[in-house]
Amino acid sequence: SIDIRDEFHRAVHILQTAGIEAETHIRMDAERMMPIVQNVLGMCLRECITNVVKHSGAGKCSIQLLEDKERYLLLTCDNGIGIAKGQNQTRKWGAGLLGMKERLSLIGGTLELASDVENRTKVKITIPHHRT
Ligand code: ATP
Ligand code: MG
Repeated sequence: SIDIRDEFHRAVHILQTAGIEAETHIRMDAERMMPIVQNVLGMCLRECITNVVKHSGAGKCSIQLLEDKERYLLLTCDNGIGIAKGQNQTRKWGAGLLGMKERLSLIGGTLELASDVENRTKVKITIPHHRT
């Protein structure tokens, strides 16, 4: 199964290999994260970073892994070409974005995609804590 910390280091390496400066911030207790959550979050991180490399043309990308009392949070932000307005509609999404959404929905997670005025593409993924 996926270890979210390994996946995080892999993501940074992939960005750097593509010549994209990685800025990272982790404030998350990975030890206590359930394997299913590590799997889904790791898969999402991989897809997000693949998209940045494939589509964004960015020079920089930040990755944040955070948690608060209620949820885990994965935030990525790149300074590339941005997502065209119409692309923020589910029907324009490809297999990558739809696949993330589908897996996230199985564990109560959500994905939001947005580009701001400066064309930064931001992805926000939230997963509620699962307690046994
Ligand atoms: P797949 O993931 O199935 O291999 P894909 O990457 O094209 O194919 P999605 O991951 O669903 O499909 O992304 C849909 C589209 O959204 C992309 O084709 C691209 O146009 C756009 N996109 C996604 N991420 C970014 C990004 N970081 N910057 C710019 N455009 C993006
Ligand atoms: Mg993709």
